[in-house]
Formats: sequence, C-alpha cells, structure tokens
Amino acid sequence: MTSTADPGQVLRDVFGYAAFRGPQGDIVRHVVGGGSALVLMPTGGGKSLCYQIPALCRPGVGVVVSPLIALMQDQVEALRQAGVRAAAINSAIGPEETTETWHALRTGALDLLYVSPERLLGGGFLARLAELPVALFAIDEAHCVSQWGHDFRPEYLQLAALAERFPDVPRVALTATADPRTRDEIVEKLRLQDGRIFVASFDRPNIRYLVRDKDDTRRQLLAFLDGRRGEAGIVYARSRGRVEEFAVELRAAGHDAIAYHAGMENQARAAALERFRRDSGVVVVATIAFGMGIDKPDVRFVAHIDLPKSLEAYYQETGRAGRDGLPATAWMAHGPGDVPLLRRFIDESGATELQKRIERGKLESLIGFVEAGTCRRQILLAHFGETLPEPCGNCDVCLEPGRLADVTDPARKALSAVYRTGERFGAGHVVDVLLGAQTERIRVLGHESLTVYGVGKELDRAQWRTLFRQLTSLGFLVPDAEGHGGLRLGSDDLTRPLLRGERRLELRLAPARAERRKDRRGPAAAARMQAAEAAEADADLLSALKTWRRELARSQGVPPYVVFHDRTLLEIAAQRPATLDALGGIIGVGQAKLARYGTAVLSVLRGQSGGG
Ligand code: ADP
Ligand code: ZN
Repeated sequence: MTSTADPGQVLRDVFGYAAFRGPQGDIVRHVVGGGSALVLMPTGGGKSLCYQIPALCRPGVGVVVSPLIALMQDQVEALRQAGVRAAAINSAIGPEETTETWHALRTGALDLLYVSPERLLGGGFLARLAELPVALFAIDEAHCVSQWGHDFRPEYLQLAALAERFPDVPRVALTATADPRTRDEIVEKLRLQDGRIFVASFDRPNIRYLVRDKDDTRRQLLAFLDGRRGEAGIVYARSRGRVEEFAVELRAAGHDAIAYHAGMENQARAAALERFRRDSGVVVVATIAFGMGIDKPDVRFVAHIDLPKSLEAYYQETGRAGRDGLPATAWMAHGPGDVPLLRRFIDESGATELQKRIERGKLESLIGFVEAGTCRRQILLAHFGETLPEPCGNCDVCLEPGRLADVTDPARKALSAVYRTGERFGAGHVVDVLLGAQTERIRVLGHESLTVYGVGKELDRAQWRTLFRQLTSLGFLVPDAEGHGGLRLGSDDLTRPLLRGERRLELRLAPARAERRKDRRGPAAAARMQAAEAAEADADLLSALKTWRRELARSQGVPPYVVFHDRTLLEIAAQRPATLDALGGIIGVGQAKLARYGTAVLSVLRGQSGGG
C-alpha cells in the first residue's frame, strides 16, 4: 500500500464503508500523523479499523499484538479477503510459515502482522523488527496490563519496552474496558502519557435489553428462544451443572445447542467454540469461561439465566451480541434468590474486607439495574459515565412501561402474610393466600382463616410476584439459608418502619395483565426502522445469498462472515444492485471483494429474479 493513501479512500476502497463511525476518523488521522493513543470503545464499536487503516496509510508494517491466538487467523483471513497483505506469528503457526512471513517482512510485502505477546517479546524478535520500517504498534485487549482486572497477563507488562525501543513509532492501545482505574493503569503501564485518549460512546443502540422476572426459567427461556430458531446466541448460566442441564433442555426442544464450561476437556471446548464460530444458528450454553475471543459478528442474542457478577461483566457479556450492527437482544431472567445468593458468594469468599466491599458495591449497581423503574440503557450508560438524555425506546422499561407505584400498602400486606404463615413458605403460597386462592395446601394448613387471606386482590399474581422479588432484593424478605425458597422477614430496622407505616415504598410493578397485552403492539421507532429494513430484503433472495456464501466459505475453510457480513447480504437483498458499480456501493463491499465475488453475487441475484 502507498504511504500517501488517504484514510477516507482506504475506508471506502478496501473495507467498503462509506463513513467513519464515531471517533474512528479522528483516531485514524491522529495515528497516521504519528501520534500514540488509547482507544476505549465498546465491543463491536469498530476498534480494528483504528489501527488497520493507519497501518495501510503509513510506510512499513503495522504490528498488532493480541493475546487471542484463536482469532488471529480469522482476522488475517478477513484482511486478505479485502486485499490487505496480512500474516500472523504465534504458537499455532508452523516454522515454515513463520520463515515465509519473515521473508515477506524483510521485502516489505506485508501491511499487517498479528503477533502474540509471547512471540513478540521472545528470542530476538524485537531486534529483528527494529531493522524494518514499522508503521505502528497496536496493542489489542490493552486491559490485560491491569492487575486488577480478570484478564491480567503478566507478559503485557513487558510491552512497556516498545516505548523505549521504538520511540518514533506510534503505539495504539485498544480496549472495551472503560472504568477510570483500568484506563489510568493502561496509560501508566504502557507509557502512553504523551498519547491521546479517545473514548467512544458505549451505547449499543442495536441491542435491545429485556429483563424478566424469573418464575419458571426453563419455560421462559424456551419461549424466548422459540422465535429465534436458526439464530446464533449465547446463554450464560452460573455453574457447570446449570450449563449441562440447560444444554440438554434446549436440545430436547429442538435447538442446536452445545455446552461450554471450564470443566470440559480442552478438545471438546475447542470443538464447541469452532462450531459456534463456523456454523450459523448454534446456541452455546456457557459459563463465563466462554467469553474473551468471541468476535463472531452475527450473534443475535445473549441470554442470562442467572445474574452476572457485575454491570461491567453484564455489559461485556451482552456486548457480544450484534457486533454487525443489526438488531440483537440481551435477555435476562432474574429471581428473588439471585441477589442473596450473590451476596453469600461474596461474604463467604476468601477475599479481603476491601475487596468484599468493592464487590458489594458492584452488586448494588447491578441490583439498581435489574430493579430499575427507568430506562435500562440510561442506567447502563450512566454507570459508564455517559448521559443518555432521553429514554432509549429499546429496552423492556421503555417498551413495556410499568409504573413506579406507591406499594407501601401491598408491601405491608406481603410482610404480614409472610409473618402470619410462619415465615417458612415461598412466594407462591403466600401470594395464593393474599389472593384468597382455594388450594389444597391452603385448606390443609387452614390458611383461609388467617386475617391476611384474600386481602390482596388489588394486584394480580404477576404483580405480586414482582413485588415479592423486589422486596427480597431489597432485603425486606430473606430467603431461607437452605435454598428451599421459603421466606422470612428481613431485619427489624428495615421491616418495622414499613410495617408501622412510618416509611413509604415506591417500586416498579409489572403492568396488570390486560394492559400488558396492549403494550406489546408498540415497538420503538428505531427498532421499527431496523425491522422494516430487514423486511424489505426478499427472504428467498437472502437465503440464496446465504447459501452461496456458506458454500464459498466452506470451500475456502473460513467462517461465512469473513466473506461477507449478514449486514452486507441484507443490503444486497434489499437493494438488488444490477451492476458491479451499484454492488460496489453497498456497505462492506470493497474493491478486492468486488473483483473476487462481484460477478458471482450478481448471478445469484439474477438467478433469483429470473427463477421467480
Ligand atoms: P471491535 O473490535 O471494536 O469489537 P470490530 O473492529 O470488530 O469491533 O468492528 C465491529 C464491526 O463493525 C465489524 O463488523 C466492522 O466491520 C464494522 N465496522 C467498523 N467500522 C465501521 C464503519 N466505519 N462503517 C461500517 N461498519 C464498520
Ligand atoms: Zn430504554
């Protein structure tokens, strides 16, 4: 590539994109000009272009350090498809290929080199590199230098050496971890004090956040998945046991589901990951061991059947959905037992008091999110220091408005009913009592003679369940230690003022059932637009294009999205370009891909319109 290339031109010609997204343009210009930078962008925000384009615009090879060896080959392959001269050096690459790569490096025949930190820092690598023109160093997953984070990699600390050995080469560190402490640590450890910090918005507008009250997780999850057959997704569960159990459930319901957790054999795990990446429509049921290194762009949903550890973790996990910018869903079910369970994990962990306090603080933020009466996205973004001025219109709170209601009276009734039934029953039975139900259990226990029997008809069952869940999360009710679901009253300090009427309580309740139906009809404007776009694409044509892509990808041994993203196929199907020129105008179709696949795509298009 020439050293005089214009970044905007490269964006269009090589990558087929019309415009930079967010701060990409500023970052690219800054780095092309020789500046170093720290780039904070959410997953799917478009970090790669921030170093790929400067590497193409500056003389020499761009060196990309990444800890995710499994992904390097796909990235290299995707670049090659776009006509970029790229290669990788890491432990998975044989000596012969490495020798070839070095040869290409010496003859100036490489634009981008992906390398693992171990190789970069090992045996004379840097000395050899110093003899070549280097366009830039990109340090991906830069939060791996943070000793506080979960992804700490000691070898990342040695990357500080790049600042001394290559003082004139710009260094770009990139991460999706945004908290200020990690940010400061990266600047310090990677010596980026003279660099600029770029922060992209952490909003992911194409992700719809849906938080559900858990009553029957299995049934709820299956209902959620039912409308999503054939889509790729991740279901996160807390433990290996839950992972195994739900993978079986999903398979029984006809889903192409596979399990993934740290207790599996390496080989089985690698195979699961590979299937997920290469095939479409696979649902992975996983613990959080399944995470880093998934850059599949067309993950359509991420479902949590247990609470994540923190809002940061939640954001990272859900961020794996919809990297391609198409509509995606982050779904979560949580129940009354979840928060106390997490509290117990913290209390009983061997951590220091300080660490426990930090963890408890994180848990509080998470509770604030799941118990929210306001737009989920506003709360999420506020947590990352960003303000969203208007409610988003694309989360459950916005789409299915419940009310922040004064629940003082029902809450008092709930507490008395728990107390009067002997503080040993779960919410189900207590709600039956409040509603005056005629169950066998109530009859046998004689609970219809209690003063609280039938006094709670102002709420429906779902609303009572919501209320019990929130009272439990807030500590007014406490589940029994054995985990049987029985509830007792929380501490006197908390419950007494409420019972005496000295304290009022406002919470969000699910809308009454009749209203819930009505609200389903009004999706938000943004979501509607995206749906319309998808509907415009002719379904048969789209599936013909996908079939073509699948066969092509298989013959080349690459994942389908390396050929074209879903997004590109959707646009092709919607616009039905008739000429190569028109096809070249579509997002994701750069010059190399146009030359390689243009004619084939046009003939798929013709085949469809001709054959009807
Ligand atoms: P990250 O590394 O930040 O998670 P990627 O670099 O993988 O994100 O980019 C996410 C997706 O967005 C990719 O599919 C990429 O092709 C696409 N993308 C990035 N920048 C642009 C842009 N300016 N216009 C259109 N699509 C873009
Ligand atoms: Zn919202």
